[in-house]
Amino acid sequence: MSRTDGKYDVAVIGAGHAGVEAALAPARLGFRVLLLTLDRLAVGRMSCNPAIGGLAKGHLVREIDALGGEMARAIDAVGIHFKLLNRSRGPAVQGPRAQADRDGYSAYMLGVVENEPNIDLKDGEAADLIVTGGEIRGLVTATGEKYSADSVILTAGTFLSAVMFTGDRKVAGGRRNEPAAERLGERMRTLGFRTARLKTGTPPRVRRSTVDWSRAWEQKPDRPPLPFSFGTESIDRPQVSCWITRTNDKTHDIIRRNLDRSPLFRGEIGGAGPRYCPSIEDKIHRFAHQPSHHVFLEIEGGDSDLVYPNGLSTSLPEDVQEEFLRSIPGLEECEMVIPGYAVEYDFFPSDQIRRSLETTLVEGLYLAGQMNGTSGYEEAAAQGIMAGINAANRCRGDRPLVLSRAEAYIGVLVDDLVTRVPREPYRMFTSRAEHRLILRHDTADVRLAPVGAALGLASEAAARRAAEKDRDARREIAYLSSRTAPFHEANELTERLEAGPVRPGTKVVEILRRPAVSYDDILPLRDGEPLPAPPLRREVEVRVKYAGYVERQIRLVEKLKKMENRSIPTHFAYEEVGGLSNEAEEKLTAFRPETLGVASRIEGVTPADVSLLVVYLDRWERTEELS
Ligand SMILES: Cc1cc2nc3c(=O)[nH]c(=O)nc-3n(C[C@H](O)[C@H](O)[C@H](O)COP(=O)(O)OP(=O)(O)OC[C@H]3O[C@@H](n4cnc5c(N)ncnc54)[C@H](O)[C@@H]3O)c2cc1C
Repeated sequence: MSRTDGKYDVAVIGAGHAGVEAALAPARLGFRVLLLTLDRLAVGRMSCNPAIGGLAKGHLVREIDALGGEMARAIDAVGIHFKLLNRSRGPAVQGPRAQADRDGYSAYMLGVVENEPNIDLKDGEAADLIVTGGEIRGLVTATGEKYSADSVILTAGTFLSAVMFTGDRKVAGGRRNEPAAERLGERMRTLGFRTARLKTGTPPRVRRSTVDWSRAWEQKPDRPPLPFSFGTESIDRPQVSCWITRTNDKTHDIIRRNLDRSPLFRGEIGGAGPRYCPSIEDKIHRFAHQPSHHVFLEIEGGDSDLVYPNGLSTSLPEDVQEEFLRSIPGLEECEMVIPGYAVEYDFFPSDQIRRSLETTLVEGLYLAGQMNGTSGYEEAAAQGIMAGINAANRCRGDRPLVLSRAEAYIGVLVDDLVTRVPREPYRMFTSRAEHRLILRHDTADVRLAPVGAALGLASEAAARRAAEKDRDARREIAYLSSRTAPFHEANELTERLEAGPVRPGTKVVEILRRPAVSYDDILPLRDGEPLPAPPLRREVEVRVKYAGYVERQIRLVEKLKKMENRSIPTHFAYEEVGGLSNEAEEKLTAFRPETLGVASRIEGVTPADVSLLVVYLDRWERTEELS
């Protein structure tokens, strides 16, 4: 028997990306945690792409780190190809991403969990929940062991009543070579919970030594790599390249010819798949006009002999997968080691959880991760840490921690889940966040380290570092705002940069605000004041350049609250609203809402979409008045 005689403060079911963070948070806060999972060797396993982060997802990872979670440190330890995405675009939409050593990532997370003294990690299947008087009391495993717990966090991922499909082969299982969890979903239904079906898929894997790399285009990693964790000083692990190739007419012909052999097209899979990460057969069918699609060849680890062809998710039969792989430049002679497949699974429509992620039906029972209708490791981990924090808060009689939409992408994620039920796997995008200029990935520490430290989860040192960063940035901006630019030097500079003339008495901060001027350009306009370190210069530059936008954004959100009854003309041209997501444009055009309030509640229309509508509506009304 365990060191706790079967009595725990918190029990976590499932040790995927949600489960690991959900267990670590209460354990680090001093609570006794049971982490029960089907197979300990699958702790933190990456079911699909061997990568962490990406647009908006990278923000979530840095927020998890600032709160005191593990995901950022894990990827910093095992990342093999770091890249800041959208580097050439505005700071709000840039996102850090890194390819991982797939097995290394799992091994790292297993090590962290095993070395956490307050976690008892056990292999086993949770089959039943002990509930009395509407309150959770514990769980029972498939082999009959009973564990009592004050709170239980369910993070079963894609495993509930899961079925995997490759062509006409259909097997029960949540992931390749792993069983499905049948009993727990059934038990949840007897407790009154509703379930629905979703699906996702993964590409085949090919042998690295059989790829002709000379036929693909090399993408080098960032040098130096930008770590995810605010506590990591540098990434020392050797980095590898990623390679890009493309599908072509031949690939598309093979797939089109075999669409009737796809379980998706034969109607065998009922659950909706991720709109933004479709299978290759779906892409070829839906975007029939596109002659080719990118394929990113990502090595699964420094020493791994497997390559992940990102972009080729499929559930077509194995022979078709082999045939279309070999039509792609660089893969002509490739050996397919593992075929791709789709998986369909149960999830709990998210109107059954509160903002704390506690269920509405059973007190002390929390749901986190893919089971709430989301998709992605980062979305799962973000919910995991919040459920873990809130289970711990419940143990100590504290109010739940709820982050607002203006504080964090995590706040946006949870708010979206409790206001609209995902009909397709939900993934995070920067466009979902109306405050995205405030919620930049590089400000996650300033926004959330104090929250993490107040909880006792993030270290005092991390909170101090964030406070110093903020104070130093403010101090430098105050200095640049008070310093008058030396007239001749300033004019010489702006002339060279084609940044417009400078009047006598202009402050240095006003010159930095000009788009063509970087912080390093204004260095000669400072006096002997000590220079800030390079990361702080970037921070100052971004804060100065975007201060106006940020203030406007906050005012706009305030204004939005008053916009509930504002009419939208029936003939309003949604297709002219730049930046509106495809989904919002589609739904608004179909529904033609009468007011902004109604528009804002249509599923798929985000607050960010509504903000754009306001701007275009103003413009539209001005032109209508003039015409
Ligand atoms: C084939 C496939 C393809 C995918 N493709 C993509 C993709 O393209 N893009 C994307 O963003 N995401 C994709 N995903 C989803 C991604 O894997 C998940 O978003 C992420 O892993 C969710 O994390 P989680 O912690 O919620 O669940 P998981 O990582 O699935 O972890 C769940 C854990 O719970 C355990 N468990 C389940 N039931 C029980 C039980 N009754 N008792 C004990 N333990 C239990 C399991 O063993 C597992 O360890 C894919 C998943 C699969 C399986």
